Amino acid sequence: MDIFDKYSLPAARHEKVLKAGTDPFGVRMEELYSATEARVDGKRTILVGTNNYLGLTYDPLCMEAAIEAIRVHGTGTTGSRIANGTYATHVALERALATFLDKRSAMVFPTGYQANLGILSGLAGANDVILLDADSHASIYDGCRLSGATLVRFRHNDPADLDKRLARLGGDDRCKLVVVEGIYSMLGDRAPLREFAEVKRSHGAYLLVDEAHSLGVLGDHGRGVAEEQGIEHEVDFVVGTFSKSLGAVGGFGASSHPKFDVLRYCSRPYMFTASASPSNVASVLAALREIERRPDLRRRLWANARALFDGVVAAGFEVCAEMSPVIALRMKDEETAIYAWNRLLERGVYVNLALPPGTPNGACLLRASVSAAHTPEQIAEVIARFGALAEDLAALERAAGARIPARL
Ligand code: PMP
Repeated sequence: MDIFDKYSLPAARHEKVLKAGTDPFGVRMEELYSATEARVDGKRTILVGTNNYLGLTYDPLCMEAAIEAIRVHGTGTTGSRIANGTYATHVALERALATFLDKRSAMVFPTGYQANLGILSGLAGANDVILLDADSHASIYDGCRLSGATLVRFRHNDPADLDKRLARLGGDDRCKLVVVEGIYSMLGDRAPLREFAEVKRSHGAYLLVDEAHSLGVLGDHGRGVAEEQGIEHEVDFVVGTFSKSLGAVGGFGASSHPKFDVLRYCSRPYMFTASASPSNVASVLAALREIERRPDLRRRLWANARALFDGVVAAGFEVCAEMSPVIALRMKDEETAIYAWNRLLERGVYVNLALPPGTPNGACLLRASVSAAHTPEQIAEVIARFGALAEDLAALERAAGARIPARL
């Protein structure tokens, strides 16, 4: 018996993926040219799978802020928030986030993953119930597990199913926390938050929204799906990450609940890890200001999303959800998805290959994410390469002697 025997199945699947070409889970960005281009395998490649929605990783103000922070505060804090790891800039970022979101308080974490671990395990305990959308991100599932709360999954984006499950719990005195996301990372669909808020209100539950993919993307001010749907006051807890529209690393939780700050000395993932590096904190502060100052970034993002969405639909691909900066193309099976992902990379386009079990309902996906930093020329080039891929896939179908499907 070997300690790694339990991984023989995923290891065999990985072997199969490797035989089809480049390792999609080991792609190396050999050199970054900008927020939208890199050298991959020696080739200039357009990046269409980075979640860098506003392109702020190369924003001059964010970069300068990070460089200056290293000069002034050094490379790392070497301490947790409850020891020597709280700098004035951590507090400033927390205030800026709270003000931006119009919440009373915000807590910063070193990653978005840890933000979910810290907020969920801090809020819920063994005597509480968490009701989570079945398609929730791994960090939400892990945070729920760490909490020790009773978990109830409801059908993805289905407020009626949530209502039914809350009703089944009856009027017991356990606290109920409903957890949903803004834009879902895999398919790019978004939560019907207004309906979810109505359900949570009618059952006296709390609502937590993970705005990881919607912050800076949705709403007139970029505050996310709750702003877009006009129900921010109904959201008890917001979680988000700095690794997408904010162009750095880190995450946060925010709330107007008067007792929220007790989590600073009761949430283990907040307390027992070194705090975010000064350069990260500084660049996120600058990025928040950019989001406030530059609504044009959001307009460009959506114009690019519209163009790519229309382009791939015209090329005959099946898109999994309504138009958003996350555009997921459904492939008919795993082999096709791996083949298509390799052909795109050979043509200088990087997207994400998303396979079960990491995807909803066993979907095999090419997942593209658009950035405000993509130029119209880059978007046109990406569409052309998807067009060439559509021809490849049709030729493959013909060669297999199969009927050519109306949709790929
Ligand atoms: N929540 C959601 C919905 C996510 O998609 C992600 C990352 N993809 C995270 C949390 C974790 O964020 P991070 O990668 O910044 O740790």
